[in-house]
Amino acid sequence: MNVYADNAATTRLSPVALRAMLPYLENQYGNPSSLYSLGQRAKEAVETAREEIAAAIHAAPRELTFTSGGSEADNQALRTAAALGKKAGKTHIVSTAFEHHAVLHTLKALEREGFSVTLLDVHSDGLVRPDELAAALRDESCLVSIMYANNEIGTVQPIAELGAICRERGVLFHTDAVQAVGHLPIDAEAANVDLLSASAHKFHGPKGAGFLYARRGVRLQSLIEGGAQERGKRAGTENVAGIVGMAAALSERIPRMEQDAARVSALRDRLIAGLSEIPHAALNGDAARRLPGNVSFCFEGIEGESLLLLLDDRGICASSGSACTSGALDPSHVLLAIGRSHDVAHGSLRLTLGEDATEAEVDYIIQNVKEVVERLRGFSPVWRDLVSGKTPHIL
Ligand SMILES: *Cc1c(COP(=O)(O)O)cnc(C)c1O
Repeated sequence: MNVYADNAATTRLSPVALRAMLPYLENQYGNPSSLYSLGQRAKEAVETAREEIAAAIHAAPRELTFTSGGSEADNQALRTAAALGKKAGKTHIVSTAFEHHAVLHTLKALEREGFSVTLLDVHSDGLVRPDELAAALRDESCLVSIMYANNEIGTVQPIAELGAICRERGVLFHTDAVQAVGHLPIDAEAANVDLLSASAHKFHGPKGAGFLYARRGVRLQSLIEGGAQERGKRAGTENVAGIVGMAAALSERIPRMEQDAARVSALRDRLIAGLSEIPHAALNGDAARRLPGNVSFCFEGIEGESLLLLLDDRGICASSGSACTSGALDPSHVLLAIGRSHDVAHGSLRLTLGEDATEAEVDYIIQNVKEVVERLRGFSPVWRDLVSGKTPHIL
């Protein structure tokens, strides 16, 4: 059996989105800035897509700027708020330790430019406490950036409540909603956000397309010098097919979202129950306040990478919290932020179900994770020490 259980990394392109895109990759290849009808048809397609996406998140079309994806939208949101803050003499930013690197690395860059950053505790349940946000705000705060839903552990923050605190204090509020858009109902107005990032490939749209919502009155600062596309907020010829595909994918998700979320949540809970039977294992993040498809576990005495390779042999695509880049094994900053130890964080597994997931797939995953964890523990000196009592169990 082949099971794709890494939908937080990316999703399969919807056939509806693909069909919507094809004309703009074939005959409708005009540049939206051109005045002849071939160009104007491309322009109309971009503007129709803007209207569709705006309707899907209860925003006005003018409030949306198309970007190359979530990372660019996050960068632009933070850069905009920082520039506005600096102009007003406000250089303090509040965020959390478990944001996506597109946010965390931009914050690091802003720190080097003189901003000070407070990272809120996300507690062991993966949730921010609104009273702690209120306490962290200062007169010189210019921005709060808190993700809607976490990409590793799936926890969903009380965004409207956090946003209300920011609004009351007159501080701009950005949320990275890349994991939420297309999966949870999003109302940009009701969520009390000023800036919101999204990415098409996380909701069955194409890679390389995303958008940044900026509430009217918040003037975005362009990251790219060039032409006057996107009302001067994002230079460069529009990714017409990508934008059209993004709108088609999101429009397809909206009427199905509630039903899909209920069905996928039930499968998620079945998967959590099955994996919880493994001894010395623990779910990461709150069990209820999480994305419909997200299951994140830590297993004592194993390495996440070995687990992934053995699961791949059995046809299962999953992910581990640990980012293995250039041979350096760094445990996930998200798992460390919720208080997992380095050792435990190394034994992590993220399974993210799509809308087409089935009970048979979930049962196949449970069976195989159980077998593979047991097998890996059989070889593991760390596990031997835990079993013999030489080192104490944490989970
Ligand atoms: C995937 C992801 C991003 C980055 O989006 P890209 O379109 O891949 O640049 C940002 N934030 C979160 C939470 C994500 O899951």
